[in-house]
Amino acid sequence: MSKAPFITLNNGVHIPQLGFGVWQMTDAEAADAVATALREGYRSIDTAAIYRNEKGTGRALAASGIAREELFVTTKLWNSASETWTRDSVQREFDASLSRLGLNYVDLYLVHWPRPMRDDYLTIWRAFEEIHRSGRAKAIGVSNFQSAHLRRLMDETEIVPAVNQIELHPDFAQSELRAFGAEHGIATEAWSPLGQGKGLLHDPVIGKIAGKHGRTPAQIVLRWHLQLGNIVIPKSVTPSRIAENFDIFGFELDGEDLAALGALDKGNRLGPEPGTFDWS
Ligand code: NAD
Repeated sequence: MSKAPFITLNNGVHIPQLGFGVWQMTDAEAADAVATALREGYRSIDTAAIYRNEKGTGRALAASGIAREELFVTTKLWNSASETWTRDSVQREFDASLSRLGLNYVDLYLVHWPRPMRDDYLTIWRAFEEIHRSGRAKAIGVSNFQSAHLRRLMDETEIVPAVNQIELHPDFAQSELRAFGAEHGIATEAWSPLGQGKGLLHDPVIGKIAGKHGRTPAQIVLRWHLQLGNIVIPKSVTPSRIAENFDIFGFELDGEDLAALGALDKGNRLGPEPGTFDWS
């Protein structure tokens, strides 16, 4: 079984570059899909409190028999869960996630959205810093933060986020935010890396490159992420696709492929705009 390569985060923690996302799965689906993913070789799982499947994810992790130190588990604070965050309420949400997962630490804990209009991400982040110092989150990071939010966080708090998990796929390539992350030692993790399996996978440019390599469009897109240096967490509940998405270590895109994929960026955002999103 091949293994995903690792990226070293800014605090020395190693994260598998290819992981498995479990958004839009029930507990039962997550338990099945995570079990399949772990059998196929994935070791990194990305869940969140709001996915409401931390229990199913945790069940599959426990049943796998894989040593805890070989697993990399990410979950996220649903920061719309409270109107007024305090250090204690963040700690309570974190404890609840750990308990649902059946774990005594996570590898990565993320602030799910910046919600800048609430002006509370600095308070949340200071609580995250304490959680990290307690050893119960090996790394802490953010999700959906734009450069202004990251800059403010870095100016006013102590720990630079290890990761920024953002929407990113070939037709929404996020070049500026990726460059900002690279400049400040913040690793970029791509959510919806396959463009949610929608039109992107039918793009003729991707189809042509897939034909050239004898691979599927999804494998081409995931390989593009790896070669760009992104951490990537594709989702599927279909066992054959879970396997297909992990089988991307036996080929490489060449310069011509990368240039063609690089030309697909259309700023095609599928999810909410982080500067205005406040789902409470
Ligand atoms: P994705 O880009 O991973 O696409 C998943 C969909 O693509 C599947 O449901 C399926 O329809 C299709 N698909 C998967 N493998 C395929 C294959 N080999 N061939 C053809 N079609 C295939 O989208 P996603 O689930 O939105 O994102 C992945 C993960 O990112 C999520 O599960 C979650 O963990 C994370 N995420 C985070 C945020 C955030 O705000 N931080 C938001 C969305 C998603």
